[in-house]
Parts: sequence; C-alpha cells; structure tokens
Amino acid sequence: MKVLTVVGARPQFIKAAVVSRELRRRGDAKEILLHTGQHFDANMSDVFFRELDIPMPDYQLDIHGGGHGEMTGRMLAGIERVLIQERPNMVLVYGDTNSTLAGALASVKMRIPVAHVEAGLRSFNRAMPEEINRVLTDHAADILFSPTSTATRHLLNEGIAPANIHQVGDVMFDAAIFYSNKAKQESDVIDRLGLSRRGYILTTLHRAENTDNQDRLIAMLNNLNAAAMMLPVILPLHPRTRQAMEKLNGISLNPLIHIIEPVGYLDMVMLEENARVIVTDSGGVQKEAYFHRVPCLTVRDETEWTELVECGWNKIVGVDAEKFSNSLAQAMTGSPPEWRSDLYGSGQSAGRIIDILLSSPQ
Ligand code: UDP
Repeated sequence: MKVLTVVGARPQFIKAAVVSRELRRRGDAKEILLHTGQHFDANMSDVFFRELDIPMPDYQLDIHGGGHGEMTGRMLAGIERVLIQERPNMVLVYGDTNSTLAGALASVKMRIPVAHVEAGLRSFNRAMPEEINRVLTDHAADILFSPTSTATRHLLNEGIAPANIHQVGDVMFDAAIFYSNKAKQESDVIDRLGLSRRGYILTTLHRAENTDNQDRLIAMLNNLNAAAMMLPVILPLHPRTRQAMEKLNGISLNPLIHIIEPVGYLDMVMLEENARVIVTDSGGVQKEAYFHRVPCLTVRDETEWTELVECGWNKIVGVDAEKFSNSLAQAMTGSPPEWRSDLYGSGQSAGRIIDILLSSPQ
C-alpha cells in the first residue's frame, strides 16, 4: 500500500512523527511525505524533523503567506500535481490547517481515499479558520480517526456513517509518552533559561482570534503582566504573534515576561512538565498540560477539548482580567483534580491507525 502523508504546520509534524514511524515499521506499506511549506522557519519546521526523526519530505511545495484562499488554492494545485505523479492508494491528513483541507480536497477530487487523523473536533465557532477546515475535511474523508468520545459524537451528530469512524485515541498522547525520556535526556532548557521546577508560568499564544484583534491582544498581554507579578512568565513566541505585537504601539511588558523564540518539541515537553501553570490558546498545548498533570488556563472563549474543562484541569478564561486572575490564583494554590488515564486512549493510537489503514480496501 502506498500512503501519501500531507503535513505543513508545527502540530502536524508532531502528530505525523508517531504515525509515520509506525507506518514505516510495517514492511507492507510505503509512505511518501509531502510538506506544503505552511510553516517554514527553522524553529517552526526543521527542528521537528531533526528531533523527532521524521524522514526528509519527498516533496516540499514551499507554499506560505498570502490570504487563506490563495494559500489553500496554491496548495490544492501543488498537491494535485504530486498525486497525479505518485498515484497513492490513500492520503493521510492531520488536524485542521489549510494544508489539511487542501490535502483532503485534492485527493477526493481525484477519487483517492482520504484518512483524517484528529477528526470530529469542534469549537462550534465558525469564525475560526480551523473550524471550517475541520468540518470540510471530515465531510470529505473516507476514514475518520477520532481521538475522543466527544469527537465521535460530533461526527455521528453530523451524519457521518458510523462504519467510517474509528475512535483510536489521540496521537499526541502517543508522542508525549514516546518522547518523554528523550526530552529528559536531550533537553537542557530548564538550566539554560535558569528556571526551577514549578517556578514559572508557561504561555503560548497564536490563535488568529487573539492575535488579529488588537483589543484582545492588549487585554491578554495585560493579564500576563499581572501574572508576572506572581511568577516569571516564559513565552515562546509564535511568528504570527510577534508580528501582531510589533504593530502595538507602546505596550510595556513586565520584565519578568521572558519572550523567547519558539522552541523544539523536546524543550517544549520539559517546559510543560516543569511549569506551575500553563496559559495557552493552543489546542495541542491544552492536552499536553493534562498529559503532564499541569493546570491549564485557556485564553479563548471555547475549546474543542471539552473533557478537560469537565474534569477540572482546564479553565476557559478568555481575556477577562478578573476571571484570569481568579483562575490563575486558584490554579496555583488549589489541589489538583483527579487525573484519568483513559481520556485520550492508551498511547497506542498510531498502531491502531496503521492497523485500520492497512486493512482498508484499496
Ligand atoms: N510546540 C513546540 N514549541 C513551541 C510551542 C509549541 O514544540 O514553542 C508544540 C507543542 O508542544 C504542541 C504543538 O507544538 O505539541 C502545538 O502546536 P500549536 O500550538 O502551534 O498548534 P495547535 O495545537 O493549536 O493546532
């Protein structure tokens, strides 16, 4: 079986790393790796290939920038050319970026079956570009790998045939387990930054709804200023957020907010594991906070990972100053909620995905 994997953005490299490893381990499958180029900086792309032992892409389309339509359209044309050349039996796409949608659409138009890893996630906020990408990809896909029972329920509610849905758990849980020892052995980030265990708040911010709205961005930075009065804040800054912050005139930041370049996955694992609290608008980081048993505040108005809110590990705080400071104080001093090991599968999702792919009719 010939599988063509489409990746393009940071979280996709991490998800694909564990699935690709499993796929390549089985003798009866060949993988072709296509990188759209959506993320291209060394610290947003190359570092993941190197650290996570992902093979070099067979195709690099080098497409980034421009509006959503232009970017997705150029990817669609580029991916179609590769599909015509390679004629894979299956196309594998991940998550919810423009690369995901372009991969799915290019394939179904050529009647090549599509498998979607992380199917069924919903924020029910159609203003998010990611939500549109998810819904359209799920409805184009032939095989839907859902990470959680909530995601499975969303797919069933939307009329997706139950036979096409496979609840396999979350490949990010596989990655967290698989790379945990490597991170401990190879990352020196805690010493390098002079941090102590539970002695800082880790923050990531990059959602368009936060970066593209100056009022929200300012409110969020003011909240971080207040947080830094309690503990230093470590902020590996996404390029989109850096650009947005450069356009803000004269916001002064507490010197205890340490802005650093985006870090590789192994450094990120160590920063997450040792943080006192994680403040984020990332989907993946919300879950990783839970995997490492660190309380999380989500600076959005909703989340796709609702089970974390239900079990008390994640609080949705938006950008409201009072809600933020109350929730932060509670996360820093309250006793940790119960931790369940079964919310995201058993850490064997990649193996289940490959079993299902290899046994699917071609
Ligand atoms: N991540 C990383 N370095 C960073 C910030 C995040 O390796 O400086 C990892 C993080 O551990 C998680 C993934 O990137 O595995 C999440 O990606 P991102 O937040 O960009 O996207 P989302 O999950 O929101 O789609």
